[in-house]
Amino acid sequence: MDLKQLGEFGLIGRISESFRAPDGVHGIGDDCAVLPQKTGMDTLVSTDMLVEGTHFLLDDIPAYRLGWKSAAVNISDIAAMGGAPVGSFLAFALPSGISCGWVDEFIRGYKELSDRFGCPLLGGDTTSSEGQLCICVTVLGQSESGKARMRNMAEPGDLICVTGPLGDSAAGLKVILGGKARTADADFLVERHYCPMPKVNEGRRLAECAGVHAMMDISDGIASDLRHILDASVVGAEVDVSQLPMSPEMRRFCASEGLDATALAVEGGEDYELLFTVGADAEASLDVPHTVIGRIVEGGSLEWKGVQRDFIGYRHF
Ligand code: ADP
Ligand code: MG
Repeated sequence: MDLKQLGEFGLIGRISESFRAPDGVHGIGDDCAVLPQKTGMDTLVSTDMLVEGTHFLLDDIPAYRLGWKSAAVNISDIAAMGGAPVGSFLAFALPSGISCGWVDEFIRGYKELSDRFGCPLLGGDTTSSEGQLCICVTVLGQSESGKARMRNMAEPGDLICVTGPLGDSAAGLKVILGGKARTADADFLVERHYCPMPKVNEGRRLAECAGVHAMMDISDGIASDLRHILDASVVGAEVDVSQLPMSPEMRRFCASEGLDATALAVEGGEDYELLFTVGADAEASLDVPHTVIGRIVEGGSLEWKGVQRDFIGYRHF
């Protein structure tokens, strides 16, 4: 069916059928969603926008995966604070070329990821667009009062850690944009680019450890993201480039394509692993898999040890 026939409210009805608000929560269908307050908890709120042509190519990304990714990148921001996701809001500007089947597939992917983390869709907005497809998601989360991990909490002497391999997503984007042959490695990397998995459980466990200080998710690449922690905390860092975790698939792909794996790991974004700092005494007892890649120092400089060059992270403008 075409979206014109279905209409705005037909479409909202179709979306709301997929999501049931939890007991005590008033979800889709009113002017506002209503969520009961919990004493002793802080509310976390984050918004992210995905714009056709800037963040994704409509012809290339299947609707299901775009739905998955739209939910994943937002829930990742809650993970980055060490919080638990509570619910999300989805605002859509849909160009006339979009079919009802496309929206159904988008919602199926969005729901698949949201359900994994108990994060129902509680509302949103739906409008038509004369131009690009635009998707704006707001996510709510919660954490124990005062326990959210912020970018300004790093201390000199802290070890800098990441929860998983870097550069897979950037390599996947090279496959997509460069029209590379779809080997098993290439397929793995494309999947990592399209379907990132937010590190919610890892973030919550890390936030339970008092020794874990600053934390964020890696959306723009560590060259740019680590800089945010350093600026906010007014500290510097030394990163040992030889310690950066990289998947075997990514290393093999870079070797066969003549790409610089280290540069992709440092400058490539959208891995959605967690980047955190931890007091040196507390690191050994962490129960979350991680790799130590460097340490926080006094001052404000960021030094890449083991390479002769500097790295520049992703810049939005
Ligand atoms: P209002 O005009 O009062 O802002 P709307 O007509 O925009 O309300 O929306 C009606 C209901 O449908 C609201 O509960 C809103 O949150 C929900 N809604 C609208 N679009 C979406 C969407 N894309 N996803 C989820 N819920 C939506
Ligand atoms: Mg209203």
